[in-house]
Amino acid sequence: MGEEEIPARTAMRIVHDELLMDGTPALNLASFVTTYMEEEAEKLMMENLNKNFIDLEEYPACGEIETRCVNMIARLLNAPLDKPDSEAVGVSTIGSSEAIILSVLAAKRRWQDARKAAGKPWDKPNIVMNSAVQVCWEKAARYLEVEERYWYCSVDKYTIDPQEAVELCDENTILVCAILGSTYTGEYEDVKTLNDLLLKKNEAEGLNIHIHVDAASGGFVAPFVKPDLVWDFRLPLVCGINVSGHKYGLAYAGVGWALWRSKEYLPESILFTINYLGSPQVSFTLNFSKSAVQVIGQYYQLLRLGKAGYHAIMKNLTTTADFLAESILAIGNGEKFVLMSKTGGDGLPLVAWRLKNEEKYDEFAIARRLRTRGWIVPAYTMAPKASEIKLLRVVVREDFSRHRCETFIRDLREAVTRLDETPQEVIDHAKKVHDDDRMREVTRKMKHFHQEKHSLQGKHGKTHGVC
Ligand SMILES: *Cc1c(COP(=O)(O)O)cnc(C)c1O
Repeated sequence: MGEEEIPARTAMRIVHDELLMDGTPALNLASFVTTYMEEEAEKLMMENLNKNFIDLEEYPACGEIETRCVNMIARLLNAPLDKPDSEAVGVSTIGSSEAIILSVLAAKRRWQDARKAAGKPWDKPNIVMNSAVQVCWEKAARYLEVEERYWYCSVDKYTIDPQEAVELCDENTILVCAILGSTYTGEYEDVKTLNDLLLKKNEAEGLNIHIHVDAASGGFVAPFVKPDLVWDFRLPLVCGINVSGHKYGLAYAGVGWALWRSKEYLPESILFTINYLGSPQVSFTLNFSKSAVQVIGQYYQLLRLGKAGYHAIMKNLTTTADFLAESILAIGNGEKFVLMSKTGGDGLPLVAWRLKNEEKYDEFAIARRLRTRGWIVPAYTMAPKASEIKLLRVVVREDFSRHRCETFIRDLREAVTRLDETPQEVIDHAKKVHDDDRMREVTRKMKHFHQEKHSLQGKHGKTHGVC
């Protein structure tokens, strides 16, 4: 920190110029997180930047807005709210990660309470999940000391096998996680079959295992694109769902939602009634203070778009993703690439693909080549036990228009042609230079830890690169 003040204009200029080194959010095809909102939404957010969401006594309208959002989203996900005065059970969070940690905590406590009441051991809880879960599930399990019990992907199947998942469950299982929209391929897991098989097992063995659906991305897509797909609270064993408001909820980064089927799934013992400036408030969050603007941005979108607006946008994204998939497959007379994601709305509006044949370059080289045109496209390896598979992925967001999509296809075609023409030694050299640069960067940033395995890598070496 400098000893003296500097003028506001100078400070602004310095920060502004430093931030020019960042990539352009609209060209970041790696992320699910919203990069475009209307001016009116941005204006509302600016107007409310100085509000702390937790001060509900002073900002009661913010609290009311959160409750309305929870009720709208719970109804969208078919929560059983049939009585006129039924109130949905849910909270706003910073994102799906906080929602998932809270949901695992609630499930663990509920399981422990039941085990204690029955006089049974309650020290070995486990969660059954796909090894392709987002890294926050590993985080939740480890922070909360719950055994991670994995169903492993294979080279040709990336969505959990319901039968095998149910076989992994026992009396110590606090939840089964189902993913509605995998971060790897965008595929939806078969929650309905999982529900039906688990119902049978619960009945046969006197168990009471429930399902939590990680609908971080799919929660705002499937209800509009595939309304007949039954994956949500319509299934009796689905006790909780998380969605990221800042993904297909179309709000800027910093908002997610955790929802529960009913109060019964949220044990009293983890709710805090705080006496804030004279009035009691029930709180279930990991942190105290946070900005109010993300919830306000979410409310704006729900109000502004309505079901018809979300439907139109999600349909449009699906059409763009299908067009992109078809165009990628057409490169090299259909001999270059294989599609790894679904089309026609059977998965998220994203395209994941890989090289069909052994080439002198790999998916990472294509990603580097696209980077020179400004596109940020992640290349990554599949989940554990299928990690020899490499993929490229483009997430279709609202600001990825048909026109931008066509420009991208042109650049991808060009990148592939260039790589085909480039001699092997040149490609190998470029890779080496890139790897050396990355290593140098890592060493510089993490001098103290650089020989260690970083804890945030997760057990399976997952990073936040795929988010
Ligand atoms: C993005 C994502 C998460 C994490 O959500 P955040 O909102 O980024 O915290 C969890 N699960 C899945 C399936 C995701 O796609």
